[in-house]
Amino acid sequence: MEIYCDNAATTSLDLEVLDTMIPYLTNHFGNPSSSHAIGRKAREAVEEARHKIAKLLNASENDIFFTSGATEANNLAISGAIKTYEVRNVITSRLEHKAVLQTLGQYSQHNDLEIDFVRLDNRGNVDFEQFEWLLKNNQQTLVSLMHGNNEIGNLTDIKKIGEICKKYDAIFHSDTTQTIGKHRFDVTKLYIDYIVGSSHKFHGPKGVGFIYINKYRKIQPHIYGGAQERGTRGGTENVAGIVGMAKALEIAYRNLEEYENYVAFLKSKMITALHDLFGDEISFNGESDSTTDSLPNILNVAFPNLKKGGVLVNRLDALGIAVSGGSACSNLTNNGSHVLKTLNRNLDKDSVRFSFCKYNTPAEIDLIIKAIVDIYEQDIFVRKSVQNKSAQLIYA
Ligand code: PMP
Repeated sequence: MEIYCDNAATTSLDLEVLDTMIPYLTNHFGNPSSSHAIGRKAREAVEEARHKIAKLLNASENDIFFTSGATEANNLAISGAIKTYEVRNVITSRLEHKAVLQTLGQYSQHNDLEIDFVRLDNRGNVDFEQFEWLLKNNQQTLVSLMHGNNEIGNLTDIKKIGEICKKYDAIFHSDTTQTIGKHRFDVTKLYIDYIVGSSHKFHGPKGVGFIYINKYRKIQPHIYGGAQERGTRGGTENVAGIVGMAKALEIAYRNLEEYENYVAFLKSKMITALHDLFGDEISFNGESDSTTDSLPNILNVAFPNLKKGGVLVNRLDALGIAVSGGSACSNLTNNGSHVLKTLNRNLDKDSVRFSFCKYNTPAEIDLIIKAIVDIYEQDIFVRKSVQNKSAQLIYA
């Protein structure tokens, strides 16, 4: 059995995307900066991709800059804002991705920069009143607040944040990595300066992403070298990756609402099954069980601990089910989830993030539930409710 439910970490490459990339890995291998026909062919492909992405976001082509992914795009936004606008204060949240927190940490060490962390409730929602109070009391402020949280799925109202930023003339960056390709953006309707996308989160290739920079913001070079990306980021473009990313976004936008409803249905099926199995012994981290305030594809579950040792993520892995205990990036440091630690909730529980995509099926949810039943049945800590339900599941 092989079930992949870790789509917040990365998604599989769409074969239609691969088809559009292959010519740029083979025949059309030119360097987009070369002036001959082979180079011009590559340049055309890069600019067409830029045009497609800009159109989908209702942005201008000049506002889109290609990067190696969302980590780099977040770095670019933060460093660009700090270097260009003499930012003195940053307002962010402890639930941000490390690509934001570590970047801010570096700048605060070497610059005269004060960082305020916005107050959150115990489900991880921003306290808007305190946020406005912080803005009111600071000047030359950069706000960095993510749209969709990669671990607990919380959605933050970036339209509202943007409006408050506008009132106080603050610069607004949002890490939109988990929502680009899953949510319809119209940058003309948002007060926002920087948003970022990462192709591998929406069935595109890895190692390529982009940043949208509002046309009213000045841009500083971010990687020094050639004049690529209008002097912002030197280095030969990842032509096939860029072409693939634009195609992947185009495909995502074809059925955006259908996708949302489908993954939300998978998630609610899982929530119902877990409630039936564990009753009060199950809970959900952040807003992930909410139908309105969380990403439809992320469910972060706090399971009762297994008594026989081991964590559920590994037990599921042994059965061929790929899920995550937190973000893939946090796994590298082995420090546990900074998001769950911040919320200070369910730290004594075995938390698992399930993240779905269009390729998951209801039958897979049944198999995951069956696997969970088997694991808990094998455990010393056998629950009556699990036992009863497992009989129903097997004969259903
Ligand atoms: N921000 C968020 C919210 C993410 O989920 C990720 C990927 N885990 C990143 C940034 C980094 O993206 P990339 O892998 O493209 O560098």
